[in-house]
Amino acid sequence: MPDAPPSQSESHAIAFPQLDADDLAALRPLAVPCDYADGDAVFRAGDADLDLFVVESGGIEIQNPADGDRLIVTHGPGQFAGDIDLLTRRPVIVNAVARGPTRLMRVPGERLREVLNKVPRLGEKLLVAAQERRRLLSEAGVLGLKVVGPGKCRDTMAVREFLFKNFVPFTWYDSASDRGRALMVEWGSPARSPVIDFGGGRRLVDPGLRDLAQAAGVWRHCPGDAVDLAVVGAGPAGMAAAVYAASEGLSTVVVDRLGPGGQAGGSSKIENFIGFPSGLSGAELATRGVLQMLKFGVRMVAPVEVERIVPAAVGSAGTEDLHALHLDCGTVLRTKVVLIAAGVRWRKLDAAGAERFESAGVHYVCTSVEATLYDTQDVAVVGAGNSAGQAAMFLAECCRNRTVHLLVRKRLGPGMSEYLVGRLRAAPNVVVHEGVEVSAVHGDRRLDGLSLRPARPDGAAADAAPADAPPAGERLAVAAAFVFIGAEPGCGWLPAGIARDGLGFVLTGMDALRSGRWPLKDREPCPLETTLPGILAAGDIRAGSTKRVGFAVGDGSLAVTCAHRLTAIRA
Ligand SMILES: Cc1cc2nc3c(=O)[nH]c(=O)nc-3n(C[C@H](O)[C@H](O)[C@H](O)COP(=O)(O)OP(=O)(O)OC[C@H]3O[C@@H](n4cnc5c(N)ncnc54)[C@H](O)[C@@H]3O)c2cc1C
Repeated sequence: MPDAPPSQSESHAIAFPQLDADDLAALRPLAVPCDYADGDAVFRAGDADLDLFVVESGGIEIQNPADGDRLIVTHGPGQFAGDIDLLTRRPVIVNAVARGPTRLMRVPGERLREVLNKVPRLGEKLLVAAQERRRLLSEAGVLGLKVVGPGKCRDTMAVREFLFKNFVPFTWYDSASDRGRALMVEWGSPARSPVIDFGGGRRLVDPGLRDLAQAAGVWRHCPGDAVDLAVVGAGPAGMAAAVYAASEGLSTVVVDRLGPGGQAGGSSKIENFIGFPSGLSGAELATRGVLQMLKFGVRMVAPVEVERIVPAAVGSAGTEDLHALHLDCGTVLRTKVVLIAAGVRWRKLDAAGAERFESAGVHYVCTSVEATLYDTQDVAVVGAGNSAGQAAMFLAECCRNRTVHLLVRKRLGPGMSEYLVGRLRAAPNVVVHEGVEVSAVHGDRRLDGLSLRPARPDGAAADAAPADAPPAGERLAVAAAFVFIGAEPGCGWLPAGIARDGLGFVLTGMDALRSGRWPLKDREPCPLETTLPGILAAGDIRAGSTKRVGFAVGDGSLAVTCAHRLTAIRA
């Protein structure tokens, strides 16, 4: 699939391909024929575990129930119904109705993976069409769940971020807008918000993420059976490992406390990942990664947090029983090999009032969800690395009549790719403030400004604040601050037997051996093995790794070589 959005006619051809005689012949042995009369429902919004329906004669009308059953498209002979929910097995968001006397081939959903893997040419058509259909539907606007809540409210933001991260289609209405108010009245004026409407009278008021995930079909149950590889974290490292592992026959489960994408999922545009010359958003990377994982049979579970790991007993030849992952859903997941790909957490802004506005003015991600909240308003980005630079460019480009203030403690440049520095300097609506830090966040119900002061010597010792730094107490009128000021590993939940470096990053391979805490005498650790045999670490959480998407993907892939070696040792 091309990396830039295709033209309208190209897009239509990608989204609604005509299956040829060879495709149909490959599907026929897996399918059962079904006959429908005009107007019969083939499936309804909310149905999960959908089968693949291919039209032999007649047609299927696809309707959008979130928009008064408006006709979206009609599939004719040789075309099929369904989008990425065919693979995720989540509830569908559209209705499908037979148009005229209709004969369909129905391929059971559980055989779909067989189709994708055994008939790659057909598999590719289905996968590419599924993604493009979802993109077109999203562009069309009104679809999926309805979310009503105040824009700059932490709970509404958490719901929107969760749905976005897990690519659940939804339309958000600000509760202060006419439509938002009308919907609340229609729903009996609930006292609290956000309210999430699933259609058919099903609604949740200010739910926890687990309830929301269950109602949206994102999360069903915790995995209970033993596996070859359990991956903690569905960022680039975890997803890459899972794709390789499952494609090479290892039974694999990925667990993430939020959903797929990791930090990369919070990126508006990743431009340095090989194969995507025009860049791709973190959300696109995550969606593609998930489809690839599902294609190879990975089980992805979110939102579920690994609370602790009880390592397998270590014998002379290595691990003798299974490692146990204690999940916050109450299940214990047993596995031969663990891969910790839990990444890092962004450092919080250390300024008076910052905590009060977290996710409601102070943000640690910058996707289209956050950007649209502050349309036409001036905003600040804090940080001097690539993440901050990308966020500033994204915010400046998606709204040309806002000013983006980039706040940098020292000088812009050393910590950021040159191409970004050049673009920021050239952008007419980006103002770079060097030698400053945020001392306070102001606002009543909404953030309305930041106090700046010259950077303190502890943060800028090597390279003192420039002479043009602002006087203490300068106030900047902005509606939001996007903060990217470095990260630290959140390793508190890891077993004490896993050795870390002075900053808390996990030691692996030769570093684990050199730490003096490697327990086995008869073999050295694999390159990504920690000081606990059979437990690997990859990506940002690993000491010495380069904190970039491409490196995390490489690390995750290398972890699979280690996993093979370790499962072979155990066999
Ligand atoms: C805004 C932003 C923009 C960026 N842009 C770029 C870019 O353009 N190019 C580039 O190369 N790099 C970029 N980066 C850096 C890049 O995203 C990271 O290096 C990469 O995501 C690291 O991948 P990872 O898989 O190691 O960890 P992460 O991406 O951090 O993923 C870790 C995952 O583990 C989960 N997790 C953690 N603990 C647990 C637990 N106990 N139980 C269950 N799940 C858990 C988290 O929820 C998370 O999803 C950017 C980062 C950010 C924040």
